[in-house]
Amino acid sequence: MLETEIVVKVSEGLHARPATQFAKLAKEFSCSLQIFRGTTSADAKSAVKLMLLGIKQDDQILLRADGSDESVALNRLLAFLSEPSAGVQPAKPAQAQEASAPLDGSPTGSAEPVAPGAVQPVRGVPASEGLACGEAFVYLPEALRATRQFIEPHEVATELDRFGVAFAGSIAALDQQFKTMGCHEDIVEALADVAQSDEFSGAVKQRIASGWDAAAATLQVGEELAASFLAMDDEYLRSRADDIHGITRQVALRLLGMEDVSLACLSRPCVVLAADLSALDFARAQVANIVGLVCTKGSATSHLAIMARSHGIPAVLGLPVDEAVLRGATRVALDGAQGQVWLDPSPDVEAGFATRIAQEKSRHAALSVYRDVEPVTRDGRHVEIAANLGSLGEIDAAREAGAMGVGLFRTELLFMDRRTMPDEDEQAAIYTQLAQAFHPRPVVIRTLDVGGDKPVPGIVFPEEDNPFLGWRGVRMCLDRPDVFMPQLRAVLRAATLGNVQVMIPMIDDVDEVRRVKTLIATCAEALTREGIAWGQPKLGIMVETPAAALTADLLAQEVDFFSIGTNDLTQYVMAVDRMNPDLASLYRTDHPAVLRAIGMVCEAARNAGIPVAVCGEAAARPEMIPLLIGLGVSELSMSPSSVLRAKKIVCEL
Ligand code: PEP
Ligand code: MG
Repeated sequence: MLETEIVVKVSEGLHARPATQFAKLAKEFSCSLQIFRGTTSADAKSAVKLMLLGIKQDDQILLRADGSDESVALNRLLAFLSEPSAGVQPAKPAQAQEASAPLDGSPTGSAEPVAPGAVQPVRGVPASEGLACGEAFVYLPEALRATRQFIEPHEVATELDRFGVAFAGSIAALDQQFKTMGCHEDIVEALADVAQSDEFSGAVKQRIASGWDAAAATLQVGEELAASFLAMDDEYLRSRADDIHGITRQVALRLLGMEDVSLACLSRPCVVLAADLSALDFARAQVANIVGLVCTKGSATSHLAIMARSHGIPAVLGLPVDEAVLRGATRVALDGAQGQVWLDPSPDVEAGFATRIAQEKSRHAALSVYRDVEPVTRDGRHVEIAANLGSLGEIDAAREAGAMGVGLFRTELLFMDRRTMPDEDEQAAIYTQLAQAFHPRPVVIRTLDVGGDKPVPGIVFPEEDNPFLGWRGVRMCLDRPDVFMPQLRAVLRAATLGNVQVMIPMIDDVDEVRRVKTLIATCAEALTREGIAWGQPKLGIMVETPAAALTADLLAQEVDFFSIGTNDLTQYVMAVDRMNPDLASLYRTDHPAVLRAIGMVCEAARNAGIPVAVCGEAAARPEMIPLLIGLGVSELSMSPSSVLRAKKIVCEL
């Protein structure tokens, strides 16, 4: 028997993919291999057991081998553990959120009719304006239940067969789904490995053999295994519970002879009723058939609301109704601007909506004359109207709306909902494509703005009492040059086109800006040394903390432009959580305190001779536009669906 202690160097530790690769390597040897971390240990040939150990980079572990090839096995495995990039392969370039998918339990659509006739609306949070009225598509997960618990001894063989067929079918479907989404095969491999492990399919088979029904055994084992992942302290590994739930659900559905409905099958225009939708749900959905959206979660500046607006989908979020009530609706009418929802509206309400929707359509058609207009106020002030984008998929909508460039490209969506970070090349390709699409108009790329509330793979966020006041945005980036520098290098590479600008979020003080500038200079020098072409992007900051607003005069000396993030600035100035639907009435960008802060920023920018934009949601609000322009804002950046109206408003000022 041989054993050795080692400090693990695999970056991000033995999470799904490295664990799978490690176990695969371990299986090449006949000796037994055991890995110890603290007081726990696992069979090194089981990827699932390794994941459950939660080994992170820089953890000290002990590796024990026992058998004829123990020495060579130990050497190979130690070499694996010493290599930071072991088992991690860069993901293929892919469009924004689509690169990979957690296997979340797909919800089941259902529509039990209830008596129509709602005259009074339910009020939620107005999240994306516009009117919608139509058939409801209920997108809520329905708990699966086995039809029986136990089987007779003579049924064991049949049940084992049924499980085998359902399991193989689910893995094949999974493979197909990931292929369609353009994902790496090794992701499927990692998931299949979990599914095929002793802990999942092995445990299900054991339970069937001891007299359990196949569906009951699958649901039970899946739940237990998911619970083990949920109990882990690593955020990434915890979220693997979704994968287990997903596989469990797929297998159980087949065993129960049921089918899940997904937004990808929306074959006709519907109003979607859900608890919440992820960026991935949007990526998979037939968005053109979502004419309206009603969710019980979310708030006006949540990313769900931002996605709805960027797709031009009227939406009401944070609707205070039970899921059971949503489930019963067959038709829905909603007014996104007012935050009103009629579940099963009366014929009169429907007729009223039909008229208003027709009027809205003709108003929108009339706006199209502003598409190529460069808006100027009547007193001669030019105002740029740009688009806020989160993925390349929104480019067409922005151009069709006549956006004069991109005022905010939220890069975090490229990092979310996937298993590995996009590398420098992938990012450079995306930023270049964006810059080309709008050339010679400016394209502002915001560097990664994530925190504990929006985890991304490859970054372990600490548990924080207040993630919105915590390690996020530029704070995290400055601490993680391994994440920040590839992004800065990618921006510099795209900047050869001449229209790329870079913007730093969550800036509090001058020192942070100077440190970013030093990193940009370091990246530029390295690119020159490596013979890689780069350009110098203009540097701007988001003014979204009270500290930045109060010291805007100092910050203005350091940067080429300001962009006011009113979503966060309002939250921090008013001390009101932007995500909390119950505080929506206190979350006011038009409060004098916020307006004074904006005024200070504009004055500092004017004195320093730099432009100031607003890229928070207030930029699109008709009643805010005159105020913002009056205060000295020269660019408004917003969801593509609001661009035409903003142009019209500016021209009429
Ligand atoms: C803002 O805070 O106003 C902003 C535009 O950034 P985000 O909504 O992505 O936080
Ligand atoms: Mg912000």
